[in-house]
Amino acid sequence: MTLSYDPPYLLEASRGKATNEAFKKENFPKSPIYLPGSDCQIKPQVPLATLTSYRVGGPAEWYMAPKLLEDLQAGLEWARTEGVQVTLIGAGSNLLIGDRGLPGLTICTRRMRFAHFDPETGQVTAAAGEPLVRLAWQAAERGWQGLEWAVGIPGTVGGAVVMNAGAHNSCMADILVNVHVLSINTGLTEILTPKELGYSYRTSNLQKSDRIVTQATFQLQPGAAPALVKAATEAHLKQRQATQPYNLPSCGSVFRNPIPHKAGWLIEQTGLKGYQIGRAQVAQRHANFIVNCGGATASEIYQLIRYVQEQVEKRWSVYLEPEVKILGEFQTA
Ligand SMILES: Cc1cc2nc3c(=O)[nH]c(=O)nc-3n(C[C@H](O)[C@H](O)[C@H](O)COP(=O)(O)OP(=O)(O)OC[C@H]3O[C@@H](n4cnc5c(N)ncnc54)[C@H](O)[C@@H]3O)c2cc1C
Repeated sequence: MTLSYDPPYLLEASRGKATNEAFKKENFPKSPIYLPGSDCQIKPQVPLATLTSYRVGGPAEWYMAPKLLEDLQAGLEWARTEGVQVTLIGAGSNLLIGDRGLPGLTICTRRMRFAHFDPETGQVTAAAGEPLVRLAWQAAERGWQGLEWAVGIPGTVGGAVVMNAGAHNSCMADILVNVHVLSINTGLTEILTPKELGYSYRTSNLQKSDRIVTQATFQLQPGAAPALVKAATEAHLKQRQATQPYNLPSCGSVFRNPIPHKAGWLIEQTGLKGYQIGRAQVAQRHANFIVNCGGATASEIYQLIRYVQEQVEKRWSVYLEPEVKILGEFQTA
């Protein structure tokens, strides 16, 4: 990939005159866009495979990873002016992105980081891109309880709030105080409470909205012995490493658990453990994980998801709803 400097084009783009059609003209190399008043670039054709835990997916047509809220706002302004669609990614740990990549502007929040622990209130405020695992360990180091369960979830704060991520009978909805969001369409900011997010199992109404999480505040309980909280955190991690395939690329649980059975149990009872399409496999260690055994394509993973859904529905008359967010185009068998 060449990010060549192309002054005439940059001039057009920075004036907001360049159109999507102009970008697509043959022999017209795409160049990075320098946003006015910001040192954050919008880069063309950035591979997304390395930015997802599945290690699959084609390039983003345009990509930016702002550190600052102002840079994020400038990127959104550019997208609005150009009429370019926006896709948000955090740590990419719950995403399956198609092999042909994503059109429009992909914004990755993982460089937006800070965490502030307030001993007066017992609340921690963290930026959208802060890794949840790091936050859990920082809380443990201080002897603050309430995030021990989150230590095995390899996402960002933003992704976790949107997904209502959870484990060990706890979830984000239990500890969230409020969340700052920014509208993609209007650029307006709001502060929302958990009540306004319509939280339920691995769901929030942020999943079908144009709102970007920029930061969130959580209520924890300070005052415990750090050794105690660290031991509980470590125990959660060990338990997960013993039961889940952390050694191969995956997105964690592929399907939501339908009531009353667990998705993993239904898949296992259907005889699908170890079933493979290309280099994508239903994990031996946990049947609700589909792993990339090395060199899998996004389409192979997608086909395996569909195959598992079909077989489970045939056997149990239960439709397994994907928890993983599936973005882009996929080849079916
Ligand atoms: C090994 C492994 C284990 C896992 N275990 C668990 C588990 O125990 N429990 C669990 O709940 N999940 C688990 N997951 C799934 C995943 O880690 C969580 O869903 C996590 O919360 C996703 O966060 P992320 O930053 O990676 O979001 P991404 O995967 O990047 O995005 C997920 C969704 O959130 C949106 N999004 C991300 N950031 C923002 C933002 N700032 N504003 C608005 N929208 C945003 C994206 O558009 C997308 O729709 C696991 C994944 C792996 C790979």
